[in-house]
Amino acid sequence: MNKLPQHFSFPHAFETRMKNKLGDDWSKFVQAHTHSASVSIRINPAKKFLPDLPRVPWSDFGFYLQERPVFTLDPIFHAGAYYVQEASSLFLEQALKQTVDLTQPLRVLDLCAAPGGKSTHLLSLLSDSSLLISNEVIRARAQVLWENIQKWGHPNVVVTNSDPTAFQQLMGYFDVIVVDAPCSGEGLFRKDAEACKEWSEENVNLCAQRQRRILNDIWPALKENGVLIYSTCTYNPNENEENLNEFATNHALEFVPLTLKPEWNIETVSANNVLGYRFYPHRMQGEGFFIATLIKREKTESVRIKTGGKLHKPPVKIIDRVMTWAVEPTLFQWVQQNDLILQIPDAMASEVEYISKLLYPLGKGTAVAELKHDKLIPEHAFALSNFIDSDAFQITNLNETDAVAYLRKDTLAISEGLKGFGLVRYKNFNLGWVNHLGNRTNNLYPSHWRIRMAAAINPLPE
Ligand code: SAM
Repeated sequence: MNKLPQHFSFPHAFETRMKNKLGDDWSKFVQAHTHSASVSIRINPAKKFLPDLPRVPWSDFGFYLQERPVFTLDPIFHAGAYYVQEASSLFLEQALKQTVDLTQPLRVLDLCAAPGGKSTHLLSLLSDSSLLISNEVIRARAQVLWENIQKWGHPNVVVTNSDPTAFQQLMGYFDVIVVDAPCSGEGLFRKDAEACKEWSEENVNLCAQRQRRILNDIWPALKENGVLIYSTCTYNPNENEENLNEFATNHALEFVPLTLKPEWNIETVSANNVLGYRFYPHRMQGEGFFIATLIKREKTESVRIKTGGKLHKPPVKIIDRVMTWAVEPTLFQWVQQNDLILQIPDAMASEVEYISKLLYPLGKGTAVAELKHDKLIPEHAFALSNFIDSDAFQITNLNETDAVAYLRKDTLAISEGLKGFGLVRYKNFNLGWVNHLGNRTNNLYPSHWRIRMAAAINPLPE
């Protein structure tokens, strides 16, 4: 592993507190910070990518890499086959599996969701009959979130760009709320030198205040007996157990004990009424992380979601056409929004419409095609969907060089004789659309997604 720069040093107040907390383990903690963080990925089980790599012990989907490849130049990364994610944070999987019946149709909110690590993980864990609202308050970050959600290929999701208070309109609606709170980032010091430089006690206090505000704002939206999962990537007790303790003194709730394997080396945090779990880089292959799971034991009225309103449907001949493009087409409603045809799971379509009017989403379901004067132009998101019937289209398999050229939106010489829209693929993963014009091929990769690096090196090992 690479050594960190010599000038790396901890903020004084942080060092004093951590020395005190860790005692004899302090030198191991320091030692762990002389190496760079390990690199891990989480696979998309819906896209059936299974690398031959060592596994993250607390996740069915997590794998460690030996070194950091140039992910930007790996075509299957852009196909949504995997997400690059820090290993400790994959413990969300245990928190969810051990507290919730995942076979049930659940209403789940990921409140602080960008860039989408937890949301895409949640989509892999939830049943297709569950609905995820994935929210990010900062607009530019919400766009990145929407992009990553589309790559993951699930239609049972709405991406919103709302302030936490907006969810008070959905009183008692959610079975599960995940608050992966903005924090001082102490657990990421060896990955992010800026977080270390910017650390100050004032900033920790500001983060703690903001976290308390977020928790109080979102609490009404959780059902009675619903589950709230709170996490941060900091060791700071102000932002973790002390915040939760204060919250617990003002609300009726119960912390949920999780079963841990001893070899995971996760610290159980038991302070006052709080029960949580802490991860240290000297104890496991992962970064600093804190997570706690609690159940709301407070009487909460539930909002009555008005369903049964009329959905704006495309013309029947258009529906008939797009249905031939999809796997299990009868599971979906086909909804028209301006010129876009969307695919939304039938069981939740009118609920999604109702929520969309309250929260103004950036995106919902899967965009299948744009309707232009009776002509259907397939949407990029649909190429990446887990419900596309790829056999309904002309397919061109690309080698690695051409796949990277496609993702850079270069011109491709693949058309000879072909006409109409076609999928391009790399190693069985859909990358996107082209339009064959007989004598040439138009590359339809979205301009704002295109990669700007030159050459392909180091694809992921399989
Ligand atoms: N859950 C994300 C993931 O796994 O990829 C990471 C979330 S990051 C730790 C915290 C997020 O909270 C950031 O995207 C940040 O923009 C957002 N945030 C910042 N201030 C917020 C606020 N006042 N309320 C809600 N979210 C906020």
